[in-house]
Amino acid sequence: MAQAPTATPRTYDLAVIGGGINGVGIAADATGRGLSVFLCERDDLASHTSSASSKLIHGGLRYLEHHEFRLVREALAEREVLLAKAPHIVKPMRFVLPHRPHLRPAWMIRAGLFLYDHLGKREKLPGSRGLKFDAQGPLKAEIKRGFEYSDCWVDDARLVVLNAMQARDKGADIVTRTRCVSARRVEGHWEVEVEGPQGRQQIRAKGLVNAAGPWVASFIRQDLQQKSPYGIRLIQGSHVIVPKLYEGDQAYIMQNEDRRIVFAIPYLGQYTMVGTTDREYQGDPAKVTITDQEIDYVLGVANAHFRKQLSRDDVLHTFSGVRPLCDDESDNPSAITRDYTLSLAEEQGAPLLSVFGGKLTTYRKLAESAMAQLQPFFPRLGNSWTASAPLPGGENMTTPQALTRELLDKVSGLTPALAQRWATTYGSRVWTLLGDSRSVEELGAVIGADLHVREVEYLQRHEWVTRADDVLWRRTKLGLVFTNAERAALENLLAHSEPARSAKDSNAA
Ligand SMILES: Cc1cc2nc3c(=O)[nH]c(=O)nc-3n(C[C@H](O)[C@H](O)[C@H](O)COP(=O)(O)OP(=O)(O)OC[C@H]3O[C@@H](n4cnc5c(N)ncnc54)[C@H](O)[C@@H]3O)c2cc1C
Repeated sequence: MAQAPTATPRTYDLAVIGGGINGVGIAADATGRGLSVFLCERDDLASHTSSASSKLIHGGLRYLEHHEFRLVREALAEREVLLAKAPHIVKPMRFVLPHRPHLRPAWMIRAGLFLYDHLGKREKLPGSRGLKFDAQGPLKAEIKRGFEYSDCWVDDARLVVLNAMQARDKGADIVTRTRCVSARRVEGHWEVEVEGPQGRQQIRAKGLVNAAGPWVASFIRQDLQQKSPYGIRLIQGSHVIVPKLYEGDQAYIMQNEDRRIVFAIPYLGQYTMVGTTDREYQGDPAKVTITDQEIDYVLGVANAHFRKQLSRDDVLHTFSGVRPLCDDESDNPSAITRDYTLSLAEEQGAPLLSVFGGKLTTYRKLAESAMAQLQPFFPRLGNSWTASAPLPGGENMTTPQALTRELLDKVSGLTPALAQRWATTYGSRVWTLLGDSRSVEELGAVIGADLHVREVEYLQRHEWVTRADDVLWRRTKLGLVFTNAERAALENLLAHSEPARSAKDSNAA
């Protein structure tokens, strides 16, 4: 039942709207610089674009063709920064580029890869090289040559949750399932009204950050009743998950006849993820789903490259998202800039900073730029700090392989698969999940696959989990293997258990 707005709303330095990568990245950075921060997310953290990406921390080889050198340089340098910050959820990956000479000449690809190797800082990731394919490989016999280069892979939804945890650990109040319904400037600050499980509440903030992703412009128009400084183009992108298409840890970057590129990326050991598409989207961003044409398109590109042929029957799962791109009036959805634009509007000394566009890869740099823009309003704002600070679970961690071995050594009854899943999901925070327990028998019943009650309780207590989808598709990817009955059991468990949150983990609302 709706409650009346609180009599004395709490006042923060910054209120952030949106719990996608950009909102949580800004919240974490600002909190670490000494600001008091409130963040609200209307659904679950990462429930929209930030869990529907290709999951690459990459410079974006193809953006070189569109002369996006600033973006590529910044993104390339972020690969090793993020790898060091979160070695549990970010990993280096080699990308094989099969060369089909009628699409792009070899000299052009070689020149692009030379730039890619040298444009941004690169110390650990190996450089590019030419390849010859033999007849035993997974590619079709007519594809004889290619190239190989480095980028990184990330668990996108977990990158969001880890930034939210970091913000919370430093004092931010993060509330999910809570929508900002209005905000207005009153005497030099923002009065922000939010609606969530506890009904309507009001908070105050000196500055407002609009990181609503696909809703960035509609939030300004409808909830703030103002004019948006930029238009937004919603460009849908979809992926399919199929059974493993080939052996090995490498991804493939496939050039299609329309000059677009599609990735085939190893996914969770037993699958391959293929995508993405680029199509203008007009509907509600929350309801985006893959179309039959998109499925045929990505399967068609894979079938043009791999020996193993795929049909719609091979598709185990699909996911779609919309890129909230800043409208640069380009005719071609693939050519619209992937760079971000920050818009600052100031009245009565109360700033509104809106985030247009951006990439998962550059979220940290985007947050630093946001801080630079907000600095005049917060003269005591601390210095930048995020480049070298580990994300939660990345502290005291060498490699996921070493942590997997340590878990197998110390926790009796653990399977190698569960030890590896935990190491690549929670990193060193797995010891918080385990508490004093050192045997699987102490972790409670199994709900499905290798998910024990203890892990669900950890997720409720520390990672804002309230619904089955939060666990199955964003905190883990166990949705791919859970049966309907197991899912119902998980829903039942979540509905009937509400573990007490520690003061450090508690939410504001
Ligand atoms: C198909 C595809 C592939 C991509 N691949 C890559 C890639 O490989 N690498 C890469 O670097 N980038 C990639 N990207 C881009 C990247 O995913 C996005 O730039 C990024 O996720 C955008 O994050 P965001 O925080 O701006 O938006 P979102 O993640 O959508 O977050 C915005 C949040 O705001 C919330 N919200 C909206 N209105 C309100 C309100 N009134 N109150 C409270 N909350 C509200 C929403 O619920 C939402 O969760 C890809 C994007 C797509 C679509």
